[in-house]
Amino acid sequence: MSWLQRLREGLTKTRENISKAIPWGGNPEEVLEELEYALIAADVGVEATQEILEEVRASGKRDLREAVKEALVLQLEPDARRAKLRKLGFKPDAKKATVEPAGKVVLMVGVNGVGKTTTIAKLGQYYRSKGKSVMFCAGDTFRAAGGAQLGLWGERLGIPVIQGEEGSDPAALAFDAASARKARGVDLLMVDTAGRLHTKHNLMEELAKVKRSIAKADPGEPGEVWLVLDAVTGQNGLEQAKRFNETAGLTGVIVTKLDGTAKGGVLVPIVRELGVPIKFIGVGEKADDLQPFDAGEFVEALLG
Ligand code: GDP
Repeated sequence: MSWLQRLREGLTKTRENISKAIPWGGNPEEVLEELEYALIAADVGVEATQEILEEVRASGKRDLREAVKEALVLQLEPDARRAKLRKLGFKPDAKKATVEPAGKVVLMVGVNGVGKTTTIAKLGQYYRSKGKSVMFCAGDTFRAAGGAQLGLWGERLGIPVIQGEEGSDPAALAFDAASARKARGVDLLMVDTAGRLHTKHNLMEELAKVKRSIAKADPGEPGEVWLVLDAVTGQNGLEQAKRFNETAGLTGVIVTKLDGTAKGGVLVPIVRELGVPIKFIGVGEKADDLQPFDAGEFVEALLG
C-alpha cells in the first residue's frame, strides 16, 4: 500500500463523516452549517473552523468544495507562510513543507510512546536516501530500552549510533555526539531525548541543558528542534507541546500515526498553537512510512 493510501485509509472515517454530512451541491448556507459541525467533529477546532467559514464566504467562490479546500490548506500553514501561499496561487510545490534541515544537528523531542524513536529511524533512512550521511545519538539515557531500540534501528539501517550508559548524563552524551559529527564530517546528526512524563519539570530542564551543550560543541546547532506528536492523542498532547516549545524553541513538528484512528483535523490546532510547520507525517511502523507533509494532499485525503 502506498503512503497516500495508508493516509487515506487512516482518515476514512473522518472523510466519510464529512462527505455524508455535507450536501455540496445544495444551498451554500446549508453546506456551511453542516461543514461547521463536520470540521469541529474532525478536531479542526472552533476558532479555525470559524475562520474557514468566513474565508469561504468572503471568497465568493461557487465551487464550495474548492473554496473549503483552499481555506483548510491555509489553516495548515503557520502565519508566515500563508501570505506566500496566497501569492503563489496554491501551486502544488508551494504546499510542500521544506524539509531540508537548517543545520547539521536535529534535536528530537516529545513524550514517550508518540513514536519518537521510530521517527528518528525513519528520518535517518529518508535523509540517507537523499544522499546525506547520517548519525544518531541515543540521548534518552533515562530509558535503557529507548537507547537499545535506536541501537537496533541503527544496526538495521547501517547508521552509526552514539550511545551512553543507562542513567548517564544526556547533555554530556549530546556534547560528545555533536563533537563527533563535526570531527567526522557527517552531514546530519539526529539527537534523541528523554520523554518521560512524570518528573516533568526535570525533563524540561534537562532538555534545555542538552540543547545548550550541543551549541557548546558546535556553535549555531541544533539548527532544528522537531517535536514528535501522535495524531491519535494530538489534542491532549498540545499543552505538553507548548511546554516543549517554550523550553526548546521548536522549528517543526512531525505528526505520527496518521494511518491509525486519528480524526486528522487535529493538525490544524497543532499548527495554530505552536506556530511552526508540520515537516513530516508518519503513516506506519516501517522505516519508509514517513512522508514530507503536503497540506494539499492531506486536505484531499480529509475531504475526499
Ligand atoms: P517513543 O516512545 O516515542 O520512542 O515511541 P516508539 O518509536 O517506540 O513508538 C511507539 C509505538 O508506535 C511503536 O509500536 C511504533 O511502531 C509505533 N509507531 C510509531 N510511528 C508510527 C506511525 O506512524 N504509525 C503507526 N501505526 N505506528 C507508529
